[in-house]
Amino acid sequence: MPSVSPDVLEKYIKAGKIAGEARNFGVAHVRAGGSALELVNAIESLIHQRGGECAFPVNIGVNEIAAHYTPSRETDIRFRDGDVVKIDVGAHIDGYPGDTAATVEVGTRRHTALIDSAKEALAVCVEMVAPGTSLSSMGEAVSRTIKSAGFKPVANLTGHSMERYNLHAGLSIPNIETRDRAVIEEGMVLAIEPFSTTGAGKVSGKGRGSIFRIVRDRRASPEVVELFQKIQSKFGPFPFAGRWCDQLSPNAGVLVPKMFRLGMIMSYPVLTEVADGVVAQAEHSVLVTANGCKVLT
Ligand code: MN
Ligand code: MN
Repeated sequence: MPSVSPDVLEKYIKAGKIAGEARNFGVAHVRAGGSALELVNAIESLIHQRGGECAFPVNIGVNEIAAHYTPSRETDIRFRDGDVVKIDVGAHIDGYPGDTAATVEVGTRRHTALIDSAKEALAVCVEMVAPGTSLSSMGEAVSRTIKSAGFKPVANLTGHSMERYNLHAGLSIPNIETRDRAVIEEGMVLAIEPFSTTGAGKVSGKGRGSIFRIVRDRRASPEVVELFQKIQSKFGPFPFAGRWCDQLSPNAGVLVPKMFRLGMIMSYPVLTEVADGVVAQAEHSVLVTANGCKVLT
């Protein structure tokens, strides 16, 4: 992999800084009775105010929901005391993404050890990152850290390498030991994201979510084609929320499901822990340097 030019590095740094700030803002504003939709709107506004774009809709994962839920007007939820809330935020500058997440418990402190185990696994992983570190050794470290705290790592969720306009650029960073002998190289940008759970350690997808991504152009009515082109130019290959489309077309509520049925866009199903265990997540984006890494978020 070619080394990162100063110009590109600057964009990754800015995107990471904005994503980190937005994550912290989200964590500070979760409260019992609060609406998830109001929270994500505020987080996404902050990203825009700081000069970034969203690399994906803010994901809010409550308790057994691990990933890929974002609220809409129709599916909004209110936080309750005792909820374990994951806030996963992505920002990009000119296509260069930063991806980061944190977990917060609303009102109570029953799940501090669970939340800390994900944080600790992330810290251990970040310390290991350097050219030559194998992906499997990172997964093993995550797994060991989480298990020694008495929880299970989520086996089928992974971190990922990132490139311009590409959140999943080929490498998966496991949360368990694997046979993957691939190693990390200088210049790579990685999102590292351990998930720990009180459940079985596996997630599965349920139903159609409200996060989408463009698949392909298709012959369709002019109204559908117009919205498709707007989505393509505004969000590119990055995931987008159904609710974002309301600004692009007054008829988006009808047109987005139509595009889905035509196979022009795909949806990310909401991922839920299979045993309904509580899930915690911690995530940073890092740039691999000559002798370690730089945390961007
Ligand atoms: Mn994330
Ligand atoms: Mn990620």
